[in-house]
Amino acid sequence: MGSNKDIELIKDGKRIDGRDFDELREIKIKAGVLKRADGSAYLEWGKNKVMAAVYGPREMHPRHAQETTKAVVRARYNMAAFSVPDRKRPGPDRRSIEISKLISEALEKVVFTEKYPRSVIDVFVEVLQASAGTRCCGLTAASVALADAGIPMSDLVASCASGKIEGQVVLDLGKNEDNYGQADLPIGYIPRSDELCLLQMDGNLSEDEYEEAMDMSIEACKEIYEIQKEALREKYSTELQAEKLNEEEM
Ligand code: ADP
Repeated sequence: MGSNKDIELIKDGKRIDGRDFDELREIKIKAGVLKRADGSAYLEWGKNKVMAAVYGPREMHPRHAQETTKAVVRARYNMAAFSVPDRKRPGPDRRSIEISKLISEALEKVVFTEKYPRSVIDVFVEVLQASAGTRCCGLTAASVALADAGIPMSDLVASCASGKIEGQVVLDLGKNEDNYGQADLPIGYIPRSDELCLLQMDGNLSEDEYEEAMDMSIEACKEIYEIQKEALREKYSTELQAEKLNEEEM
């Protein structure tokens, strides 16, 4: 977040990429893309490209990290070295540790962890190409991957950010908007219970702006939720069709 008077982010009532203030970038999700993982999802969101893979529930190692009454959801968010224009130094840094923690905590809210004591559910989020909003991409993709793994959950989590550019509240900040905007407010939303499982804020918003940003993000999360469910339906209908064809051939 920083302000730069030379960068024009709004022109003729539209944003620099031509979007309306309350318009999402294009989102595509495909479930079940990795054969070896128990569940997976590939997501494209604007220029972001993110892969999520789930393994488990399986025995937790190291043992001292086991919880006797529930499974631990252990997310690991990583940005590939080639995901940003300047090569990103490989390995965990403060930012990726923070994002891993918030994705883990958000997902723990929907997974029925008490069904799997002493276990771990590993969630890998790999950002292949980054262009602002990757934590929301990661959380959105990870929840589809968890469902694809057949892990019992109360609902999916949909995630999206709103923010402020040139004094205007807008949905889903793009790269320049993120760099030169005035605020960024990512949320994780559980549609069925109308609850939040992630809330962060970078920059400043007035109370009214906060309300406006929150309303925009929740509406957007409902749209994203439909795309998530469609990705899962698509995967399972294709699988069922393949099974049927196999049976017919036998
Ligand atoms: P988010 O990706 O959730 O918006 P940030 O606000 O921390 O998280 O980052 C905004 C964007 O800045 C990222 O999506 C990415 O495009 C870029 N970025 C983050 N870390 C780096 C880095 N180490 N090098 C270059 N660009 C980065």
